[in-house]
Amino acid sequence: MRFSDILGHKREINLLKKGIELNRCASTYLFSGPEGIGKRLVALAFAAALNCEACKDDACTECASCRLIASGTHPNLLLVEPRGGTLKVALVRELKRLLNYRIDRGRRVVIIDGAHLMVRATSNILLKTLEEPPLNTTIILISSRPDTLLPTILSRCQRINFSPLKEEAIKEILHREGYTDPHTADIAQRLSCGSAKRALTIATTGIIEKRRSYASILSIDHVTATGLLHMAEKLSKEEGLEELLESFKILFRDAILWRVEHSEQRLVNTDMLESIRLCPYSQEELLGAYSLVEKTRESILPPSTTNKRLAMEALLVGLKERRWQGFVA
Ligand SMILES: [Zn+2]
Repeated sequence: MRFSDILGHKREINLLKKGIELNRCASTYLFSGPEGIGKRLVALAFAAALNCEACKDDACTECASCRLIASGTHPNLLLVEPRGGTLKVALVRELKRLLNYRIDRGRRVVIIDGAHLMVRATSNILLKTLEEPPLNTTIILISSRPDTLLPTILSRCQRINFSPLKEEAIKEILHREGYTDPHTADIAQRLSCGSAKRALTIATTGIIEKRRSYASILSIDHVTATGLLHMAEKLSKEEGLEELLESFKILFRDAILWRVEHSEQRLVNTDMLESIRLCPYSQEELLGAYSLVEKTRESILPPSTTNKRLAMEALLVGLKERRWQGFVA
């Protein structure tokens, strides 16, 4: 992975390149920003550039070091990822053990992906490492929820904020992955909110069509009790359920915008205008519906073991009866 292969994030990449050129890389970085926009790719390209044997501020992709980084087997690259939805103590203990070994050449890069998933004990162990950073090592914390990190950890990081990807970058990524139909690319891009990962999930799991098949979510007053239970069961079995719930949120957001602006211009779901127009909720109820869908989505995120069918029943009953307090397992 090279910096030059990455779409978007030019400002952030230039900042890192400058650090390499001046030989002034921080011992700890925090890469923050929404999920799925390429923070980890930039971290890997940074690790490759720092260790490349041929080039100075970007990887060549051909030298022995670049090939080892690309295959994930370079001894200077340590990648820590959550397991079962959390970053457990054992992972950071193992990392500390590995950091005791000296490296022969280049710069060691530790990437801790999903840093907000550290349990308290993990954070405390990591903090000790950050207080006494190992020689010739750069630690990169990656997080979409930096607000949940300990202030003592935040204060030791050079923070780099990544923004959502622009429309052209998302469309280019979809095109590279073989999604060449302009209609699919356009809707996936609009629903993705600048996240390449989300755009690809939307394209691969058929969220665009599924979202249309659940248009009655906007007029749930007309769905019978039996229909509602059937819909909850069907929903709970859907692949990409989290993304589908995100798309429901955007539908309610569109309904709010439509009430205010009476224009398609800023809507995402332009292909569902009729359902948006006929939605019976008041403006206040739409805000409640939006928030209930978000609470439900959060309740099923890993490592949650929430019963999805019960959560979907509670969501649909809540939407029908205007109860916005969310599901309690
Ligand atoms: Zn190289």
